[in-house]
Amino acid sequence: MAQTKLNNGVMMPLQGYGVFQITDLEQCEQAVVEALHTGYRLLDTAATYGNEAAVGRGIQRSGVAREDIFISSKVWIQDAGYDKTMASFAKTLANLQTDYLDLYLIHMPYGDYQGSWRAMEDLYEAGKIKAIGVCNFEADRLLDLILSNRIVPAIDQMEMHPFTQQKALRHILDQYGIKLMAWAPFAEGHNNLFTQPILKAIGDQYGKTPAQVVLRWLLQSDVIAIPKSVHAERMAQNFAINDFQLTAADLIQIATLDTERPLILQIRAVSEVFRLHGITFDQ
Ligand code: NAP
Repeated sequence: MAQTKLNNGVMMPLQGYGVFQITDLEQCEQAVVEALHTGYRLLDTAATYGNEAAVGRGIQRSGVAREDIFISSKVWIQDAGYDKTMASFAKTLANLQTDYLDLYLIHMPYGDYQGSWRAMEDLYEAGKIKAIGVCNFEADRLLDLILSNRIVPAIDQMEMHPFTQQKALRHILDQYGIKLMAWAPFAEGHNNLFTQPILKAIGDQYGKTPAQVVLRWLLQSDVIAIPKSVHAERMAQNFAINDFQLTAADLIQIATLDTERPLILQIRAVSEVFRLHGITFDQ
């Protein structure tokens, strides 16, 4: 499977599997077993998804060795700050039945994320995490984090799909060797992505679906993707992207779909700041 090299030399699979919104824990455990048996070796979960323990059970049941799996999890905003992040990390390890993480991410750029980062730097230096990074950090906040601390993030996990291509952010990521990890690579199905005419026409040339075109586009862009599906046949479809190549003309067509703004998470919106802090927002 294709891998990418992070800015600390760690190798990370480009094709992953995400478990957001799989709230039925038996279904989550089973999905993890199926994903690993399909061939995925990168799993993405988060404390706030409430399914880390199911992911841990799925890994155990799969029979795949721990060292062959790249596990990513995240600290939630309510656990921001040095001490709370340390405690949350310990719970995450226990849930996942492991004594180290491959990747640990700050989930949201709110609360005392500087304190969280210092805890993560210490855990990284103690060998408990192979790589550390962030999610949903736009360029200004990311730069502030970099300039205030010792370790540059290895990853920025962002909303990224054909309608939100993160071209502006990539300039700063490239300067620091930070890799993009695409969440919601299918835009969670918004804008009829699975039947989108441009993606469909591109896919028809190769006998591939729009979903496979999107994942191939991310792979060719050196962007890590973590599509979610609870259906084994879709997991297999989403994994089968290594037998075709998008041309420069295909890539130009995909570029035309970009709206240059997020579709799902308006991270800067006042309503989101309230919501993420757990406060009901009345206009
Ligand atoms: P997504 O992967 O863009 O879309 C998932 C949806 O697409 C599900 O409804 C799934 O349905 C459907 N689907 C999957 N493969 C398909 C296919 N081949 N054909 C048709 N439909 C298909 O959305 P996401 O789950 O929000 O994002 C992926 C991962 O990113 C998450 O699981 C999570 O790990 C991560 N994430 C991170 C953040 C963050 O803030 N850091 C935010 C959101 C997500 P079925 O399951 O029914 O097949």
